[in-house]
Amino acid sequence: MFPPRQVVFGRAAVGRKKKSDSTQPSSLPSISSDTLDLDEAWLASIRKKLVAWYAEAHRVLPWRADRDPYRVLVSEMMLVQTTVTAVVPYFERFLARFPTVEALAQADEADVLKAWEGLGYYRRARQLHGAARAIVDLHKGKFPDDAEAVRALPGVGRYIAGAILSFAFDQPAAIVEANTQRVLSRWLAWGEDLKTSRSQARLWEAAERLVPPKGAGTFNQAFMELGALICTPRTPMCLVCPVTAECQARAQGIQDQLPVMPPKLSPLAVTEACALVVRDGHVLIVQREPGGLWANFWEFPTIHVDGADPGGRQFDRPVGLKQGVELLTGVRVEVGASVQTIRYSVTKHRVELEAFRARGLTAELRPGPRLSDARWVRPEALADYTLGSASRKLSQWTVQHWEQLVRDPAKA
Ligand code: SF4
Repeated sequence: MFPPRQVVFGRAAVGRKKKSDSTQPSSLPSISSDTLDLDEAWLASIRKKLVAWYAEAHRVLPWRADRDPYRVLVSEMMLVQTTVTAVVPYFERFLARFPTVEALAQADEADVLKAWEGLGYYRRARQLHGAARAIVDLHKGKFPDDAEAVRALPGVGRYIAGAILSFAFDQPAAIVEANTQRVLSRWLAWGEDLKTSRSQARLWEAAERLVPPKGAGTFNQAFMELGALICTPRTPMCLVCPVTAECQARAQGIQDQLPVMPPKLSPLAVTEACALVVRDGHVLIVQREPGGLWANFWEFPTIHVDGADPGGRQFDRPVGLKQGVELLTGVRVEVGASVQTIRYSVTKHRVELEAFRARGLTAELRPGPRLSDARWVRPEALADYTLGSASRKLSQWTVQHWEQLVRDPAKA
């Protein structure tokens, strides 16, 4: 698929070799980067050194306690776009709440989202829930161990399938994810934009050659661990790397310039406003309808003000917060001062959400566009509802300032 080329791959694209690093190997390997992973000696050397290093250096993580495929699935779904440190407490709580695939399959989606609350990427939680239901419905609760059936589970792409098949069933399935693609790009001195389909095909090809026929699970974990601990995005620690002699980027002195990533796009700005509407000792919350961003989540009544509209909050005409709350809930309100501005990122957007005090002048509820429910709740009950991170912060503010809010909900 990728015939050998005359030029050592990557050098032209990533610049010249550094002059000053006396720790650089004195000579380049005798084979081209293009054919490196066809060399059996190179493959054997990497496998042996990596696995030996991993036996000594690996982190003890809760999902490594056994080879249960359900635990592998939960951990890998959580680890997408999230750090190991952030995931550990979520993983432990989630497994305590849903210890088996059957327990997760039987759970209500609201309970699953609640257990996931704060991790972000809630689509993943829904996919995980769907995968558990598929395993129970289609495989009688027995986790499938063939690639086609694993790939057919909701949310399971090529990488997560490789993790499940190799970690849990020790099948020689390859893995290319954030850590391993960085490591591979350096081993091969791959100097092209990593996100192109050509680059991805080349890295998968190399990963498939690297994964050993036996011990694939340990090898893949070692591969990922090297990227997490040693071959880090910035300033890879080549001096303590177990496979420095096998690494083309290191041989060429270009490890700091790889991988080549596409330029980051600026996030799209979004401005929204919400109201903390208080009446008779209760605060008003609404639930988003199924489908779309924030499906089934609860929040304070929120309107779009400016910029992009990822939440689909626009009405057919511009409205202020007072009118927007009435359209969303049927409640007439008097709006007071701004109390807090929350900034957060979601998908490719940067959202600025300004929250205002408000007094409810009427009580009757009539959920409006894109909402499935609206409720008056006691502030202490907010903890029982599934809220996004911004709404959770505002709910905490509401509880802390409850006495002030009740005294004068629409204070200017
Ligand atoms: S030698 Fe350096 S660049 Fe190469 S794999 Fe090791 S840490 Fe990464």
